Amino acid sequence: MTEHDATRHADARTGWSDSAARAVLQLMVESVAEMIGFEVATLSVVLDGDLVTMAYTGPEEFAEYLSSTDPVSVLDPVLAQAETWGRFRFLAAEDYDASELEGHWMVVAEEQPDVPDAWDPMDVLVGLLTDDDGHLIGAMSVDRPVSGRRPDAAQRRLLERYAAQAERAVVTAFEREELVQQVAHAEAARRLIRSASMPDQASVEAVLDHTHQPLVEGFGASGSWIQVLDPEGLDGGGDGGLGYARTREGEAVVLSDRMVDLAHRLAPRLWEAQQVLVIAEGVEPTLPATADAGPLIEEAVRQLDELGLTSALAVPLGAGTECLGFLVLSRRAQDPAWSAVETGSALQIGYDLGAALMTVRALERERRLVHELQQLDDYRSQLIATLSHELRTPLTVISGNLELLSDLDLGPAAQPYQAAMTRGTVRMQKVVDDLLLLARVSDPQHPLAQVPVDLRTVVTAVVGLVGSTARAKGLTIDRRLDASGLVVAGDAAELDRLLSNLVSNAVKYTPVGGSVTISAERRGGSVVLSVADDGLGISEEDQVGLFRPFFRTTNPDALREPGTGLGLAIVATIAERHRGEVRVRSRLGAGTTFTVTLPAAPTD
Ligand code: ADP
Repeated sequence: MTEHDATRHADARTGWSDSAARAVLQLMVESVAEMIGFEVATLSVVLDGDLVTMAYTGPEEFAEYLSSTDPVSVLDPVLAQAETWGRFRFLAAEDYDASELEGHWMVVAEEQPDVPDAWDPMDVLVGLLTDDDGHLIGAMSVDRPVSGRRPDAAQRRLLERYAAQAERAVVTAFEREELVQQVAHAEAARRLIRSASMPDQASVEAVLDHTHQPLVEGFGASGSWIQVLDPEGLDGGGDGGLGYARTREGEAVVLSDRMVDLAHRLAPRLWEAQQVLVIAEGVEPTLPATADAGPLIEEAVRQLDELGLTSALAVPLGAGTECLGFLVLSRRAQDPAWSAVETGSALQIGYDLGAALMTVRALERERRLVHELQQLDDYRSQLIATLSHELRTPLTVISGNLELLSDLDLGPAAQPYQAAMTRGTVRMQKVVDDLLLLARVSDPQHPLAQVPVDLRTVVTAVVGLVGSTARAKGLTIDRRLDASGLVVAGDAAELDRLLSNLVSNAVKYTPVGGSVTISAERRGGSVVLSVADDGLGISEEDQVGLFRPFFRTTNPDALREPGTGLGLAIVATIAERHRGEVRVRSRLGAGTTFTVTLPAAPTD
């Protein structure tokens, strides 16, 4: 192992990727060596029961100290027999059997000066660093005193002072690292939530896809697997739900049926107990005690083994009482063990991811519902179009024959019947025509013509058409039109129909002697067309459904007039097709104003 590898190894163990903490520890050992006079000084920290060397100073040939990792128990024989010097333990060569320490303590051979307190190459001097609760968190050891002697009282005091400082440095580094981990996990969680709340990206697949990278990075995992449970109603989910497993590098991992089955059995238990499950060497996996807890854990270990993995953290995903999924993060043999901070954060991620899944699931359901409604609407439009089309031919036959009958002069007794049949046929023809028109303008496949249409021309044509009816009813029709700037891009026939529907309604629903005003004006990039009357007016409740097909108001005065209830639906659809909108302002008994806003033609 090269020194570089050793450093990377220690980084992986500690996660102390930020080298500030390491630099402080390095400075520490160098100061100890220089100020107190030792050739060799090392500083190790306790990680998952091991002493991992984080800093070393001394001759190049012993630099392998830096890569050394020993179980904490290596200190046991020293602790048992050594002399206590404050934080330090001194084990004199003459007080122990060297074979006990063999293999763990590096003996740095040197020539021993012939003095009473000479340092023996077999002497061990190690300072124990503890946290505020007295738990061992690290060790500082020194070797090869420059003086060749065992430390005197003054040197011991100095050693003690440096050890105290080193202790603080290690405690701080640990605390800082916890913070860094928490920040990394919090960031991962935030990204998850963000991806889930972007509605256009919000599919379960997208959440799983977005989640993978932050998860493996945040947790330093070699891979992640998310199994979405309760697939009912999830697009793409078969009986087993939706599974997403990737290596850190993004390679897909094949999930066996047994794994999926295991996820379905394990996740709800973990969610109920609000716990995660760690499966790793030397860790006793715990599940809430039920009859099959043992076999479940055995199965989990077996599955992990089959994938060639040694360590995994299983997390339930859920919201409220509902368990929605299962997350597994894996690590390889050389990776560090799962820390308490990590398992805590993982449970938190289980809530966040659970909430995200809940949101997208609701969105997906909504989307599907909209799709179904859309299909229903398409079907309805198609049905109406087909029916009206089919009715048109027999209606033409009937009205043709009615005309023939009137030519036959059947006598006065037949006339009322003929008149009734003609009225009915005309009415039916109007319904069929309106239905066909509504179907055509609602059809997204039916393209809209984009011809410049001057609304002044349209107004003139419409007034010409309904003018006689209005005059017959004693109504006045006023026009207030801008002299120019009233050109829009669209279909002239459709715009004609839009305006004639509005004006004929105004004429129809305004009692004798009233007035109708048609205005058109340019407002910025829009042309605003309005039809105002001082007629019956429309109640607020009736205004709500006004533009729905077949809607007729509840006002008995209005119902006396013949109508299909399709006119305003056609107006709204044509306006919408022209990227415009229609609004109504009305008060019962005080008249009505319909306002249509359309984008002005770009060249105008
Ligand atoms: P109809 O064929 O019944 O006129 P519309 O869709 O054109 O169908 O209008 C729907 C209903 O809105 C009408 O039945 C009528 O009650 C009301 N309405 C439309 N225009 C006016 C108006 N200018 N004044 C009062 N009521 C109106």
